[in-house]
Amino acid sequence: MNHIILKSGKDKDIRKFYPWVFSGSIKKTSGTINEGEIITVYDNKSEYLGTGFYQSSPIAVRIFSFTDEKISETFWFDRIKRAINYRTQLGLFNLSSTNCFRLIHSEGDFLPGLIADWYNGNIVLQMHSIGMYKNKEIICSILQTILGEKLQAIIMKSSATLPKNIEVEDGIIWGKIHGNQVQENGNTFIIDWEKGQKTGFFLDQRDNRELISKYVAHKSVLNTFCYTGGFSAYALQGNASRVVSVDSSARAIDLTQETISLNYPGTQKHTALVADAFEYLDTTEDTFDVIILDPPAFAKHAQVVSNALNGYKKLNKKAIERINPGGILCTFSCSQAVSKEQFKRSVLEASAKTGRKVRIMHQMSQSTCHPVNLYHPESEYLKGLIIYVE
Ligand code: SAH
Repeated sequence: MNHIILKSGKDKDIRKFYPWVFSGSIKKTSGTINEGEIITVYDNKSEYLGTGFYQSSPIAVRIFSFTDEKISETFWFDRIKRAINYRTQLGLFNLSSTNCFRLIHSEGDFLPGLIADWYNGNIVLQMHSIGMYKNKEIICSILQTILGEKLQAIIMKSSATLPKNIEVEDGIIWGKIHGNQVQENGNTFIIDWEKGQKTGFFLDQRDNRELISKYVAHKSVLNTFCYTGGFSAYALQGNASRVVSVDSSARAIDLTQETISLNYPGTQKHTALVADAFEYLDTTEDTFDVIILDPPAFAKHAQVVSNALNGYKKLNKKAIERINPGGILCTFSCSQAVSKEQFKRSVLEASAKTGRKVRIMHQMSQSTCHPVNLYHPESEYLKGLIIYVE
């Protein structure tokens, strides 16, 4: 097996089970290493640290084992089984009103680079490392063995998450899809596996959507960055008096309209608009009791964090200015590179600019099917605040 040796001092985090080796930490490689190859990682004194997938990118190795063990099919079976057991323990397979959730959450399930989302018997696989993609057949066969008749189809959706220089074929790789609708806490959503964002739906917001729906009764709600209308459907479920959904993508707004017609046929309470959320907040004369801000990641990597923080500050300030006294702001950041503290600070600065009195009601993260690997701070990527605005 090929190996790499780390520069002196670069072993510290790895010894605390941090799973990423950055290219700048590598002192020496044993020879030519292929993309996606399984390699071992040693410290400067040739002591074993871990085994992982190599890739010529800033994250050079994603370590999946910190024990010098054989990486066989049994190894992958055991890891995948543990991920599925965790969801079984949480009762996620037996909920009466929810049949979609994340089945495997990459580093959060000690399977770096592998995402599998469960949509009522259909699995969408999204690989974030070439090594995982190369092991797709083994992964598929293990999923079939463990899930048995519950599993109907496996769909690959990795062309957007893997480097352009490798050939990736998206589409159904096993079985047959039966229906494209799922239930989340009693709301029905249409999943566009082929063209939708991520794996088709943002399953990480399930618990937050449910929480927010408890604060909207008889209130006017603005849901910006609405995508397929997740928060909007929950707002109507929570008996909001009026819901406005905004997204810059016309396709997203079509999907939102479909979602709302499916769940609340003929409702007069909902309006959906194709608009830039920043511009909408600048130009609308409406004010709202509840505003939801769930933008895409403003910082995709560490170099652009300060721009991202400015973006959050601007957006939150505009939203707070449109909130009625005694209203609520529900604000999120899904930027992995932005910390909880940095995000909170940007919301604080935004609030201070408006001069409004604000209190934090809830501090939120991702839903339980997206567990956070304590050894990998980046896996706590979703941060949210529910703020009471006087
Ligand atoms: N809240 C959604 C997920 C949001 S994903 C849910 O619960 O499912 C982010 C969305 O923001 C995408 O649909 C994208 O089209 C939209 N978007 C990106 N930039 C935008 C902008 N400037 N104004 C409005 N929408 C934007």
